[in-house]
Amino acid sequence: MTNPMTNRVVCLHAQDDLRLETRPVQAPAEGEVRVAILAGGICGSDLHYWLEGGIGTIRVREPIILGHEAAGRVEALGPGVTELAVGQLVAINPSHPCGTCDFCRQGLERHCTAMKFKGSAMYLPHQQGMFRDLMVIGAAQCHPLPQGIEPGAAACAEPLAVCLHAVRRAEDVAGPLTGKTVLVTGAGPIGALCIAVARQRGAARIIVTDIQDATLAVARQMGADHAVNTRTDPEGLTPWREGRGQVDLVFECSAAAPAIADAVACLRPLGTLVQVGVAGPTALPLNVMVGKEILFVGSQRFDVEFAEAVQMIGSRAIDPTPMITATFSADQAHQAFETARDRARSVKVQITFAAKGGQNNKEAMA
Ligand SMILES: [Zn+2]
Ligand SMILES: [Zn+2]
Repeated sequence: MTNPMTNRVVCLHAQDDLRLETRPVQAPAEGEVRVAILAGGICGSDLHYWLEGGIGTIRVREPIILGHEAAGRVEALGPGVTELAVGQLVAINPSHPCGTCDFCRQGLERHCTAMKFKGSAMYLPHQQGMFRDLMVIGAAQCHPLPQGIEPGAAACAEPLAVCLHAVRRAEDVAGPLTGKTVLVTGAGPIGALCIAVARQRGAARIIVTDIQDATLAVARQMGADHAVNTRTDPEGLTPWREGRGQVDLVFECSAAAPAIADAVACLRPLGTLVQVGVAGPTALPLNVMVGKEILFVGSQRFDVEFAEAVQMIGSRAIDPTPMITATFSADQAHQAFETARDRARSVKVQITFAAKGGQNNKEAMA
């Protein structure tokens, strides 16, 4: 009944060339563990790599295993690992800063100049990602969750960490979210999770915009009070444009110029715009931003927020499952990517791995 361990991977060879392949199974070295990946979320960056061969100036220059949002079960411990146990569900932090550069020493690890971020094509060699049956990784990057948490929920720790960091950036300049009127533009996974965090932090009202009804319906389940489809209801934001704007804080998660223009129109003078979404160079209504003295705050990735995200999912303070709109097995990876790119029906699409290697291999579990 013991199946041979397989290690299937979803590897992008070039733009539009996504392949399911197998790779040798590695043994974990000192300080490492081997994790049977049970859920991996497809992120916008994975889609950009696949559809466009990169994001802006970051180009896919060699085969790369995609995926940086994953959770699984520890199934083998390397020498010296005592803080994890075989069988534990863990969320894997894709971020591995060097710890010694100027930024790391200032506690700004997310700006590390030698960052190793799994599934990223930023540097050569590319950092191979987590869409695979078996992942060997440093034990310190694995964060345990309690029994009973769904692997799919655990795999949302990474995008939730992005949102917790965006909220921290907002709080740094604008104070607590309690009582604030918050607008979230773009109801993809990051928008949906920003809504959940804003709700949890006591925002008085949360408005969300998108151009798809399906993503807006999910956004309501995640805690939004008002959902506006700006394509079918162009006047839907009128109440929040009144006066010189009614919104205190925007999480801009679309990186679409019309959404940014809407956001700035709805912000009150001295309001805060946290830019979370990214695309290439994007037009900004600078005249209105300056005229209203808007605080513009960039937010990228996360540091300590990954552990906070795991804690929040593990304690069910935030439930990300309403945004998981589809789950595919690894042999349907291509279909999973096709579904993920279709924003008319998808928020977060996940792939399940480790059908054989993770669960049926008795030797590895022993
Ligand atoms: Zn991501
Ligand atoms: Zn560093």
